[in-house]
Amino acid sequence: MAVLTADQFAGVTLLKDEPLSKYTYTKTGGPADWLAFPETVAQVQEIVTYTHDHQIPLTVLGNASNLIVKDGGIEGLVLILTKMKKITVSGNLLTAQAGAAYIDTTIVARDHSLSGIEFAAGIPGSIGGAVFMNAGAYGGETKNVVKQATVLTPAGELETLDNAALDFGYRHSAVQDGKMVVLDATFELTPGDFDQIKAEMDDLNARRAAKQPLELPSCGSVFKRPVGHYAGKLIHDAGLQGYTVGGAQVSTKHAGFIVNIGQGTAKDYQAVIRHVQETVLAKFGVQLETEVRIIGRD
Ligand SMILES: Cc1cc2nc3c(=O)[nH]c(=O)nc-3n(C[C@H](O)[C@H](O)[C@H](O)COP(=O)(O)OP(=O)(O)OC[C@H]3O[C@@H](n4cnc5c(N)ncnc54)[C@H](O)[C@@H]3O)c2cc1C
Repeated sequence: MAVLTADQFAGVTLLKDEPLSKYTYTKTGGPADWLAFPETVAQVQEIVTYTHDHQIPLTVLGNASNLIVKDGGIEGLVLILTKMKKITVSGNLLTAQAGAAYIDTTIVARDHSLSGIEFAAGIPGSIGGAVFMNAGAYGGETKNVVKQATVLTPAGELETLDNAALDFGYRHSAVQDGKMVVLDATFELTPGDFDQIKAEMDDLNARRAAKQPLELPSCGSVFKRPVGHYAGKLIHDAGLQGYTVGGAQVSTKHAGFIVNIGQGTAKDYQAVIRHVQETVLAKFGVQLETEVRIIGRD
């Protein structure tokens, strides 16, 4: 594997051994060997191509709101795309760069009286993470509104994928299978009424604040919805709310969340996840699969 240096890529500063706990929503995770915040598509393309050609592991993150980075950190180079956050509107089409916050994107849509992404008003991820995960809430899904996305292939080639090619499913998209990097997404929205759109977004945010432990670090719903069940209800019925290992705790407010109540580590999170999975399987015969991505070195 080639060795990187801090000034390897023109105009991009590489931080060495940078703790990822500074950036993750759970406030856990070890260091990235190297971490960079590129600002342009050309920079991302150069980095993707270089790391591909030199077999340097590359990991791309957005807002790190659906992740547990293990305590050993991440090998190779990590890119966080939050500096690429331009949002533009042309008629009914809204294009957001991968690092734009989904929340900010919904606000721009609202301010242009464009309807369709109200459901995402409180999803704390980036557009890249939302396309990768097909993020959804309150009956809405990213797949219903994305017209196309610009991606880089693992070799660094630019491609435009339309909605069908993105092959969206429940918390799934082709980006995952193809190990692509999302650069932007274009949403096809419908003209609406500003007041109605705002009321809908405010209502969803109030419902979220009432139900979710937003006052503590977490990674959202930890488990996917098992067919025929709700993960949160199974966890609640298993009496697991409040179950704690170190600083990671099954939220007492929302059973589907695991919150960091102190100096929680990724190992604490992993131990709570395992215990919840084993207990729910033993009590109800349902295997809970994680929605949150667990990545990095032990
Ligand atoms: C309080 C809270 C509430 C939440 N509520 C919801 C909800 O209602 N609905 C929902 O669906 N999710 C929810 N989430 C989870 C999360 O916000 C979403 O999954 C979001 O889409 C993740 O985006 P991100 O930018 O944070 O992705 P990250 O966590 O940074 O990354 C997630 C995955 O996407 C990949 N990825 C990120 N950016 C890119 C890119 N540009 N190109 C390629 N791959 C990329 C990463 O490699 C990683 O595998 C919630 C999380 C929290 C903390």
